[in-house]
Amino acid sequence: MKYKQRNMSMGLRPLTLLIRNLLLQRGTIRRMTSEIDKEELKKRLTPLQWHVTQEKGTERPFSGCYNKFYERGTYTCIICDQELFSSDTKYDSGCGWPAFNEVLDQGRVKLTKDTSNFGGNLLLLIANPDMVRTEVTCSKCGSHLGHVFNDGPKPTRKRFCINSASISFHSAGEEKKTPS
Ligand SMILES: [Zn+2]
Repeated sequence: MKYKQRNMSMGLRPLTLLIRNLLLQRGTIRRMTSEIDKEELKKRLTPLQWHVTQEKGTERPFSGCYNKFYERGTYTCIICDQELFSSDTKYDSGCGWPAFNEVLDQGRVKLTKDTSNFGGNLLLLIANPDMVRTEVTCSKCGSHLGHVFNDGPKPTRKRFCINSASISFHSAGEEKKTPS
């Protein structure tokens, strides 16, 4: 009897390992983990912050808290805290969203051609290639930030049109504490 029980439990272990490996291979376990993370994220963010960063949404023009905000400091990604923009490159574009002339470092953002405003209408897209927008996402966590246009001021001529809901401001005074 004792022998039988041991035999059974020994037989179960390889089976559970096999199932675990199978799930890992198919990405099921990893997917479950990221779903849990998303749930936590949803609790941490406001509905607007979630909509903008995770569903590529856009806040209403002139509604964002950083639209007319010019204090000295750094803007970070609201999701992963990566430093993205400096107040030195922020300017009033009049477009209704925070506008930056440059990124702190090119590697901090990812630029992607965005044809979502054509709604799958290929003819419209072919007829109006200038209407193709360039989406700006955080290079570290992939959150949607906004779009970049080539109608900005010198020297870059760029206008990074960024949603207030996707960034967080840190005043130049509140330096990150480093152990001395
Ligand atoms: Zn990020």
